[in-house]
Formats: sequence, structure tokens, C-alpha cells
Amino acid sequence: MNLDNWTLAAYLAAAIFFILGLKKLSSPRSAVQGNFLSALGMLIGVLATLIDNGAVGLGLIFGGIALGAVIGVVSATNVKMAAMPELVALFNGFGGGASMLVAATSHIEAAEASYAESVATIAATIVGAVTLTGSLIAFTKLRGKLRSGRIIGPRWVSGMLALTAAGIGTMIVVYDDNTFFGSNALWLLVMISALLGVVAVLPIGGADMPVVIATLNSLSGVAAVAAGFVLENQLLIIAGALVGASGLLLTQIMCESMNRPLAVVLFGLAPSSETIDSNAGAYDSRIRPTSAEDVSLLLETARRVVIVPGYGLAVAQAQHAVHDLAGRLNSMGIEVVFGIHPVAGRMPGHMNVLLAEAKISYELLLTMEEVNPLFEQTDVTIVLGANDVVNPTARSDASSPIAGMPILDVDRSSIVIVIKRSLSPGFAGIPNPLFTADNTLMLFEDGREAVTRILQSLRQSKPSLNKLT
Ligand code: NDP
Repeated sequence: MNLDNWTLAAYLAAAIFFILGLKKLSSPRSAVQGNFLSALGMLIGVLATLIDNGAVGLGLIFGGIALGAVIGVVSATNVKMAAMPELVALFNGFGGGASMLVAATSHIEAAEASYAESVATIAATIVGAVTLTGSLIAFTKLRGKLRSGRIIGPRWVSGMLALTAAGIGTMIVVYDDNTFFGSNALWLLVMISALLGVVAVLPIGGADMPVVIATLNSLSGVAAVAAGFVLENQLLIIAGALVGASGLLLTQIMCESMNRPLAVVLFGLAPSSETIDSNAGAYDSRIRPTSAEDVSLLLETARRVVIVPGYGLAVAQAQHAVHDLAGRLNSMGIEVVFGIHPVAGRMPGHMNVLLAEAKISYELLLTMEEVNPLFEQTDVTIVLGANDVVNPTARSDASSPIAGMPILDVDRSSIVIVIKRSLSPGFAGIPNPLFTADNTLMLFEDGREAVTRILQSLRQSKPSLNKLT
């Protein structure tokens, strides 16, 4: 077998590992194995490509892999669990940026490019640059450095930039002689596309970010496919197509979760939170605070308890405390389930990952469709660091940025305990009338500390602790 055939065989093996990895990622039980298989496939692909190209020596190849591995391991192990979504958004953007740079430099270096190669280069450049800067904006928003909906640019600016990018791209394809426009046109295209990414993602705020993040994820795959065509690299095309298609499916799931067509999110037809009064004063004195001791008394008399986690669970790192609380309640003969909203937290599956880390049985995690009918027969619902996903405004106020978004109907249970540190709003930046509802009690405390104190109080009243798993 010559080198080309070895490379193709390695690509085939890598593609099989990717597909098996994706399949295993679909279940929490096999997800870790799936991640490992996909990473193995990527390692095979990288090695095969570098050896096949022979452009650089093996020392450089392994040096690069070692450096990348060190950066990956250090950033993944040091990142706080609450900051994981930001890291994912950043990596997403880097993927798009890499595709853009590879396609652009390869095009500039090529003496002459076919029509198809030029089209692929333009696609990789535009999509890659949009993904890079759009993801950087998403990263900043997830960090809370850029308040959702604060900067609202006229939508026609995005339209003009998109048209300009398409125009320059067409000119590069038509006059592809590297003389009329030269490489400057390509770098101009990079700049305009990068600006487009910023201008397009900046105004999207409120609770619509999950859709944007899933879309950017899909676009990073599309950019990789285009770069794969430029480089004539089959594995890059396959890997990009897998990312693009799974990102598209995720986008569809997120749109359904938010009850919004994609166009409404991307073209700014949804109301922004800018006009909404998110002032804590909106609650007047109608708030009814409670204490951990009082909550434990309420829990003792309950038959069914639903725990609804949100982003605050990740911030407080309360998953292990929640595991112990649920175990304690179980040992007292109280049924406990978890209600998981599809956009709770800051990344798809965020709550599932945290609760799985605490070894809470996956069967206890109910989807929104499964848990909503249960609330009317629920004695106590504990809302732990969740806000937007339980905000009844979504049902009642058509002008709200979360209008129409299906929520967890926690307000239909007999008693709602909301655990959070203050009256500050969630990601969408809007007040939550749940806090002033007649059946709601507020426990103002850090999530982990509050749950630990409730547990202590319960332990003082009854013995024995069953494990949930
Ligand atoms: P929210 O962002 O609506 O609310 C989180 C709440 O947690 C805050 O009100 C905060 O209140 C509280 N909190 C923060 N830290 C702590 C702590 N240490 N202890 C206790 N509470 C704490 O979260 P939800 O999960 O309800 O909703 C997710 C939002 O994020 C949605 O708007 C969604 O669209 C958006 N989003 C989701 C993404 C995804 O893919 N899942 C991606 C991007 C955005 P306080 O400060 O008073 O404690």
C-alpha cells in the first residue's frame, strides 16, 4: 500500500471513530467513552494528515500535539464548572477561525485555483470569520461582560455587510488571478465577515442565546467542510459535516425549546430585554422570605418534591449537596424528581452534566414535557438557581423577551421554594412574577449553603441517609 492508501485507510478509521463516538455521546452512560473514541479518531486524523503532507518533520508534529494537549488539559482542568459554557463557545470560535485561516492562506499560496476551490475558499472565509467573532461575542455575553440586549444595532447593517461580503466573494471567484484583487481582497473579505459576526450576534440577547450558540456550532462545521474542499481533505469534510449536521439538529431542538423560528432569533424579530424594567424594586414588599429551618419543616410533610435546577446550581456547585438532600428525602419516604428545562444553565445539557457528576440517577431527571403535568400534584418544588426557565411572564406577556418560551410550570405546585442570593434577574434580564406569587417563599442564600443547611435541619429531625444512585 502506498502512502496515499495508508492515509485514506487512516481517514476511514478516524471517520468510524467519530461516528461511533457520536453514537455513544447520545447516552449519559456511554458519553465518556464516546468522547474518548472521538478524540482518538481526531488523533489518527491529525497524524495521518501531517505524515501524508510531509510538509513538516515528525519532531514538529509531536511538538505541536504535545503543546496543544498541554493547553487543552490545563484549560479544561482549570476551568470552573460554571465557566465551561464560555470555554465551549471559545473553542467553537477557534474552530471557525482555524478553517478561515487555513482556507485563506492556502488560496493565497496557490498559483492558480479552480472555480470550485475558489468558491470553497470564499465559503470557508466568510463562515469561519463570522463563527470566530460571533463566538467571541457569545463568550463575552456568557461571561456577563456584555449585558444581553444592551447594544441594539440596526438590522440593516448586518444585511449590508452580508451583501458586501457576498459581492467581494463573487469578485474573487470571477477574477481569480491573484493580480486584479490580489490577496488584499481576501483579507478585506475576512475583515468584513468578522465585522458581520460581531454585528449579527451583538443584538441577540434575552433568552435567545442558546439558539445562537447552537447555530455558531453548526457554522463551525460548515466552515470546516468548506476548508476540507479547499485542502481536498476527505476527513475534514466528514468531520465538518458531522459537526454541521449535529449543530443543525441542536439548533432545531433549541428553537423548539424556545418556541421560536430560527429567523425570529437571527433577524431580531423577538422583543429585546432592553425595554424591560429589571429593577429589583419592581417587587415592592410582596416578597416572602423564608429560612432553611422552615423549608425543612415543609419538606418533612411533603409526599412529592420536585427540584428544578438552573444556572445558579452551576455557580454554587450545589450538585453534591442536592444529591445528599434528595437521598435524605427518599429515606423519609418522599418521592424526589428533577425537572430539567432544555435551556437551563448556559449550555445544552448543562444541568444533566452537573447532576450526572453528582451521580444522581439519570432516570430521576425528567424533561419539561414529563415533569410539567406533575406539578399540580407536587407538594413542594425547590427552584435552585433557576430564573428564566420558571418565569411565568413567558406565558402572559407577549412583549417579553421570553414570550412564548415554554417554561417549567412550577407555580402550579402547592408550595414553591426559590433559592437564590438576591432578587437580581436571570440571563434574560427581566423581573420574575413567580417571586411574588402567593405560594412562593424565597430563600436568599448561596445554593450550596442553603441546601446544606436544609439538610442539616432535616438530619436533626430524623436519622438514616439513603443513597440515590
Ligand atoms: P437564569 O440565568 O435565568 O438565572 C440564574 C439565577 O441563578 C439567577 O437569577 C441568580 O440569582 C441565581 N444564582 C446565581 N448564582 C447563584 C448561587 N451561587 N446560588 C444560588 N443562586 C444563584 O438561569 P436559568 O437556568 O433559569 O435560565 C438559563 C438562561 O440562560 C435562559 O435565559 C437561557 O436562554 C440562557 N442561556 C442558556 C444557554 C443554554 O444553552 N442552556 C446558553 C446561553 C444562554 P442571584 O444572582 O440572585 O443569586
